Amino acid sequence: MAEKRPAEDEVDDVKAKKRWQVFAHATSIIKVYVGKDKVDYQVHESVLVQCSWFKKCLSSGMREQQEKKIDLEEDDADDIDILLRWLYGEKEVNVERDILRVASAYNTADKYRLPELQNALIDTARKICVAHRLNPREAMIVWGGAPEGSKLRTLMVNQLHYDICTSSEEYKSEGEKVGPYGRELITLMEEKPDMAHALYWKMHKWANTGNRNRQQTPVNPGTAGACFYHVHVDGKRCA
Ligand SMILES: [Zn+2]
Repeated sequence: MAEKRPAEDEVDDVKAKKRWQVFAHATSIIKVYVGKDKVDYQVHESVLVQCSWFKKCLSSGMREQQEKKIDLEEDDADDIDILLRWLYGEKEVNVERDILRVASAYNTADKYRLPELQNALIDTARKICVAHRLNPREAMIVWGGAPEGSKLRTLMVNQLHYDICTSSEEYKSEGEKVGPYGRELITLMEEKPDMAHALYWKMHKWANTGNRNRQQTPVNPGTAGACFYHVHVDGKRCA
């Protein structure tokens, strides 16, 4: 026997209830306090839980869920600002030409497991490096803050390698003749020997394999394949 169809007013009741549930869920507000100064944000719970880290934090039984409050004392408000804008759907990361801010936000996105934001940020970093020469001192700072083995570290080494190969006069250091980036490269070698080591091997490999007997330039990271510097969870490439 066919199931009895609900009366029209019953259907309306169900719809109204569903609408209310969506509304109630969307308007649940979580207070997020960032940094030592406790810069505060009021964020929709439905937006925050798109990030698995926050979802876990706001799952049943956690103090954060009961108090509707999350403390991110170790983080920087400018990084969390980028992260929250991203969760709210702002997919263009606007940081002008500040590679250090991009790098800091990248590390925060890594901490909160947001690989798509990491990818957007590293694409921004590549664009910055195309528009403005990467300064070895800044590359050194980015390297120091990035996780070991991260794509951001790879980008810094590959970009410096490309810049040195394509504008070597500006990086050389011969007696009194020090190119504008030469002094900074020396500082990098002194202060970040692990990065200098990675750069050395990149250049060695290029000289002995990629560029043997040929006067080519390495691939410009700014024009490398779209996904080359991306993080792909479970090997899934970007759509
Ligand atoms: Zn990708």
